[in-house]
Amino acid sequence: MIKFLPLGGADEIGASCFYLNIDDTGILLDCGIHPRNFGFDALPKFEQLENLPLDFVFISHAHQDHIGSLPFLIQRFPHVIIYTTVQTKEISELTLHNAANILAARQIEGTDFKVYTHEEIDLLVRSIHGINYEEKIELRGLRHSSSAPIGFTLRDAGHILGSAGILIEYCGEKIFYTGDVNLGDQSIMIGADMKGIRGINTLILESTYGGTDSEKLGTWKSEEARFAKAANRILHKDGSILIPVFALGKTQELLTSIYVMMKSGILTETNIYTGGISRDISRVYDYNRYLVRRSDPNLELKEISQLDLLDVEDYNTFKKNPGIVLASSGMMLQGTTSYRLLDFWLRQDSFAIFGVGYMDPETPGFKVVNSKRGDTIQLSEFSSSFKVNCMIQKFYFSSHSKREELLRVVDKTKPEKVVLIHGEHHAKDWLGFNILKNFPLTRLYSAELLKEIVIN
Ligand SMILES: [Zn+2]
Ligand SMILES: [Zn+2]
Repeated sequence: MIKFLPLGGADEIGASCFYLNIDDTGILLDCGIHPRNFGFDALPKFEQLENLPLDFVFISHAHQDHIGSLPFLIQRFPHVIIYTTVQTKEISELTLHNAANILAARQIEGTDFKVYTHEEIDLLVRSIHGINYEEKIELRGLRHSSSAPIGFTLRDAGHILGSAGILIEYCGEKIFYTGDVNLGDQSIMIGADMKGIRGINTLILESTYGGTDSEKLGTWKSEEARFAKAANRILHKDGSILIPVFALGKTQELLTSIYVMMKSGILTETNIYTGGISRDISRVYDYNRYLVRRSDPNLELKEISQLDLLDVEDYNTFKKNPGIVLASSGMMLQGTTSYRLLDFWLRQDSFAIFGVGYMDPETPGFKVVNSKRGDTIQLSEFSSSFKVNCMIQKFYFSSHSKREELLRVVDKTKPEKVVLIHGEHHAKDWLGFNILKNFPLTRLYSAELLKEIVIN
């Protein structure tokens, strides 16, 4: 019997975590933390696992909504064995330490919610099994009730360095968990490797852009052209541009785009500011460049000249030495660099803020990039209001598949069952409707928190 139970991230982009029970072997697919919730509310429903077999965790990639609660899981269930790609293991060492600092700063007084220590992270990372793409491993849990092993293979998902879809094979049954998947090319990553993923019985499919019109998203190339035009206008007037980005993935992709556009003369040459953990992550991108599929393995991010944001003590630097600032967090969460720069930035007539990726509607970043010059915005219930004097513009440099591409995943894999996860309701509605319209024999499920689905 194969059962599937969502513990988080079923109908939102939050703490992705899905429990699979295959003949009493317990497997978690991802172990994320909700990016904007606090304390226990940010974690998957681990308490549900108390009386269930739990043997293995597979992590699809190192974004916080997929890996961030792993240290909390291991505190509670220290025996669980963790698998991910070699690259995700390397990145997680950086991001989990960084997350520990952020969580400690957000620690809520007087609760039992305990943040993990750096020593715990060191031990945890050491215990992760890093496996290569395409390398099939066979496992059985402690209470596994059949003699047949369960096969696991990680496939390049084209989303960020190390990202993987997870193929699970058991007694002729094939389950494919997409993780976050991108079929299109970015500036470094090339689209997901879907070859040979056929005859899937159950497809567990992310739905991030299911609700977004693809005309609006454009392509990476068309967005670059729009970006260069808008950026040049600001740079010619000696203004600076703030781009809130995820330190992992979006920073490296945009840095590459900006560099290539400057070299080809489409974009005015200017300073590029980066900082903190994104520089360490870029190093991991660099030394893996011949080991994974990517568009130009010869391009090294360290060759791109960058000023360190940490060296900027006075924000007037951005007036004296204008440039493009790539600062995390991507959703301008309180306490992060991009949030700290906001107050100064919003007051500058000649400056601009460019939104480049997904933002949760409840975050400061969403409010900023959906405002315009002249508006007054309030970033949170308790913050004071800000007048928007700078220019605001939105771009779509997507690291997720467009909705038609998600339908292509269904078409290619020809599943009997599709379980929709990792998307808001309207995103899953559009996808579900179109899956049934185009593939009427498919059994469709919209994953819901703590609602078990019997797969087989
Ligand atoms: Zn992701
Ligand atoms: Zn995600």
